[in-house]
Amino acid sequence: MTTFPSSRLSRRGVVQLGGVSVGAAALAIGSNRFAARAQDATPDATPAGTPVAGGSASAAILASYPYALPDLPYAYDALEPVTSTTTQELHHDGLHANYVTTLNAALEQVPDAQGFTLEDLVLNLAIVPEDDFTAANGVVKPRRAVVRTNAGGHYNHSVWWDTMSADGGGEPEGPLADAIMAAFGDFATFQEEMKLAVLGNTGSGWTWLITDDAGAVSITATPAQDNPLITGEGYPVFGIDNWEHAYLLDYTTATGRGEYVDAWWEIANWTFIGGRYEAHLGQ
Ligand code: MN
Repeated sequence: MTTFPSSRLSRRGVVQLGGVSVGAAALAIGSNRFAARAQDATPDATPAGTPVAGGSASAAILASYPYALPDLPYAYDALEPVTSTTTQELHHDGLHANYVTTLNAALEQVPDAQGFTLEDLVLNLAIVPEDDFTAANGVVKPRRAVVRTNAGGHYNHSVWWDTMSADGGGEPEGPLADAIMAAFGDFATFQEEMKLAVLGNTGSGWTWLITDDAGAVSITATPAQDNPLITGEGYPVFGIDNWEHAYLLDYTTATGRGEYVDAWWEIANWTFIGGRYEAHLGQ
């Protein structure tokens, strides 16, 4: 256990290097990593657990073009049975990877947008022109709409992986706990309101705990791959992925979405989430 944090840090360092310093080579590294990842799922994969505040996969939000897919901060099977290995593989290696690939393709001809960190990009989507962009699958859409979807998807999922841990569960402590108490009265009420917001967010989207710059938290929901930075509602402390790809393989009944939310609290990484809240407020 004592050697584990440094191993995680070095894996993360590679990811960050791919995103920040290596330039175009990062794309090739990214696809090679995809092949290597199948082996990662077995024994020597990063062990589950060990919440880390303010770092890990969501360092991706501080990287700029060309964007790189961050490694999962744990093994593919680490979140079983709440989230299955199959869901993690599809979600990370398939869907998240595709957001990154499409985002890079859409920005290839837009040098003015290439210097932005991912977080600054989602805050400044107006920098992206609205000319037609033809995706790899032949679909033509305005370039800004494509970047909105895929930058949002990359941002939301980079944070998502870190908000979960095999050692998660329980309740937050410290300033985030205080803010949740102030807004909702008690943790169980907060959980119930999050669940209702997920159930009410019909279709694909995300449900978020957001904070304002004074630290007051509230719940909101966004469609598709939008997030509260894109919509201007506040800072996303953490979100629950409402897309069926996040849960339908594991929760197959008509009430599956609610069961997924109930189970998700068992893997909520409050150390990371609380650290993200405090870091945003400069605490
Ligand atoms: Mn998703």
